[in-house]
Amino acid sequence: MCGIVSCVGDKEASQVLLNGWRRLEYRGYDSAGLSLIGRDALLSVKRPGKVAALNQAVREELSPKKNELCRIGGAHTRWATHGAPTQVNAHPHLDESGRIALVHNGIIENYRYIRSHLEGKDHTFHSETDSEVLAHLIGDFLKGTC
Ligand code: GLU
Repeated sequence: MCGIVSCVGDKEASQVLLNGWRRLEYRGYDSAGLSLIGRDALLSVKRPGKVAALNQAVREELSPKKNELCRIGGAHTRWATHGAPTQVNAHPHLDESGRIALVHNGIIENYRYIRSHLEGKDHTFHSETDSEVLAHLIGDFLKGTC
């Protein structure tokens, strides 16, 4: 069963989210990921497998990039329903602009319809998940072109 943890506060968000992941582990999952709001861009790390792999990836990929305190972030543990448990299918998923990061639990029944509608508007999808369409759809609404 999947899980979501997010935070807005005074503490370093990656640490809060890593602790949150540990608390979600008992639910079972096949992959996990997080996004933080950085000064200039979203910072994301995703991995198949267990949270230990993610801890390592966060240390290796995120820490050198960051010379700032990120206070806002969201994380996900995934139990795949649409698409294999791979890095690219792990959440968060980004919208077309890369400014929206989305985590989602559950199933979007009509995702094929939404995806093909957005592909017709030149959206490029990177994963096999149903969830990615939501990030793109929200991004499209925010652009006012939906
Ligand atoms: N349906 C989504 C996926 O396969 C979310 C699965 C979940 O709830 O973790 O990525």
